[in-house]
This record gives sequence, C-alpha cells and structure tokens, in this order.
Amino acid sequence: MPELPEVETIRRDLIDYVKGKKIKSVTILNKKTVRNKAVFFVNYLRNRKIIEINRRGKLLIITLEKKKKEKENKFLLIHLKMTGQLIFVQGKKSIAGGHSLSKESFSKAVGGALPNKHTRVIFTFVGNSFLYFNDLRLFGYLEIVSSEKVEQIKVNNYGPEPLSSDLTVSYLKTLLKNRTSCIKALMLNQKIIAGLGNIYVDEALFLAGIKPQRPGKSLKTKEIERLIISINSVITKAIDNRGTTFNNYVDSHGEKGNFTKLLQVYGRQGEICFRCGKIIEKCRLAGRGTHYCPNCQK
Ligand SMILES: [Zn+2]
Repeated sequence: MPELPEVETIRRDLIDYVKGKKIKSVTILNKKTVRNKAVFFVNYLRNRKIIEINRRGKLLIITLEKKKKEKENKFLLIHLKMTGQLIFVQGKKSIAGGHSLSKESFSKAVGGALPNKHTRVIFTFVGNSFLYFNDLRLFGYLEIVSSEKVEQIKVNNYGPEPLSSDLTVSYLKTLLKNRTSCIKALMLNQKIIAGLGNIYVDEALFLAGIKPQRPGKSLKTKEIERLIISINSVITKAIDNRGTTFNNYVDSHGEKGNFTKLLQVYGRQGEICFRCGKIIEKCRLAGRGTHYCPNCQK
C-alpha cells in the first residue's frame, strides 16, 4: 500500500506536470471509484483548471479552479488505498506512482496500452495529456468535496504529520498514556500519526530500538523522543529516495530511486540484522506482518 513517502512523491511529480493544466474531459470506467454522482463529477471537472495539489496523510487533495460566479473552490480527493495508481502520460513522457509497478508491468501499462482493464477514471487535459487512475482491487476513491468538508477531514481523520512541528513528545506521550494496544497498532492509526503504514512503522520502531509488541502506555519519555526522531528520519530518507513500494519513472526507461535497498527489517525475516547479526523475525500484529530484531529492539 502506498504510504506517506509514496503519496508525497506522486504529489511532487504531479505538481510538475499537472498543476495549471485544464481538464478537457473526464471518463469514468467504473462508477465504484467515484463517490459523487457520475454526471456531477464529469460536468464539474470539465473545463476546470487544477490549481494546487496538497496531501494530508495518504490523501491527495487537489484544489480546483473557482469559476466567476462560484462562491468558493471545491477540492478533488484522491485516495489510492491498497492498489491505486496514478499514471500521467504526455506524448512519450509518462510518470507513474502508487501501487507497486514492476518494470515489466510499467512498460505494459504505458506502452500504448492505456487505458487497461484496471483503469477506472481517465482525465484528458487540454493539449492532449492524460491522467489515468488505475485500481486493481477497487478500494481507492475519487471525490469532489467542499472546502468545509476538506477541513473536517483534515481535522477529524488525521493526527499530526511526520516532519511537522505538531508531532511532539508531549502530544504522543498524552496519547499513549492509557493505551494498552501494541505500539505497532497505535502507529498505524491515522488519527494518532498521519501517513504511516506497515513498512515505515516497522522501520521506525527498529531505528528507535522499540519492540512492536510493547503496549503504548509502557513507552518511557526517552523512548517516545527516540521514536519521533526515528519516524522523521525514516520518512525523510524514504521521500528522498522516492518511496519504497513502487518504481517511479520520468520516462519509460529511466528508473528513479528506491527505498527498498535501505530497508533494515521490513521484508527481511530470516535474514541477518545489519546492526547485531541476529536473525530478523516476523510476527503478526494488528493483522499485519511485523518485522523486527529481537535483539536490538527492547
Ligand atoms: Zn539486531
């Protein structure tokens, strides 16, 4: 599943290519993907410019142009969930982000074969470029919402972002105080910290030296401090490397960076810990495969 660094990478890429572009038309190939009435969705977006692209947690928030007689801007939300992908194509140039794309499936997807059977929505821009929303499992969604709704979602559904000044020791200490759930589950909760998923939670806990099984309330102040530093460090590195779970391309040949090579525990069960030489273990916590070093993490 795309996590914060992957969604942030797509956001930055889309800003370069899509910001300021005018939507010529929208085609919905699967109504399940769009949370608005299809007629409204298509009509509202037609001939409208994309003004800005922001992100909260793993949610992309696209500011849409306000027309003369309209009171305020509306926003297009895009959530990739488990298997969503965004692929932008302009002539020979294409950029893809989201759910894991192998080199083969990428060239298959953009090698003239779009839309494909997983394409749910197509945006056609003035000047003949395209943005495809592909989603194998149909958990992802697109929705046009009011500014009021955007603010509600930002406040009610998401805790502080990693790398933001809101993610403080005192904030996390207060939230973990009475929690008996394991720290792994708590970190996956978007209302506690926005944007983290399975990969970066495992990596941050390893870096902080904290066992994922520990109840939230058992964490000492020093450990919470270490945890925040570790979360920020892992997320920074992942964004610098354009994320982990997908390959991102500027053209159909040039492969761009990948955090996969930097993973310390995630996906490394049975292998040797880079720090201590003991074997990395895998268990199941909060319904998710969880990777840790039983020696380095206390
Ligand atoms: Zn170790």
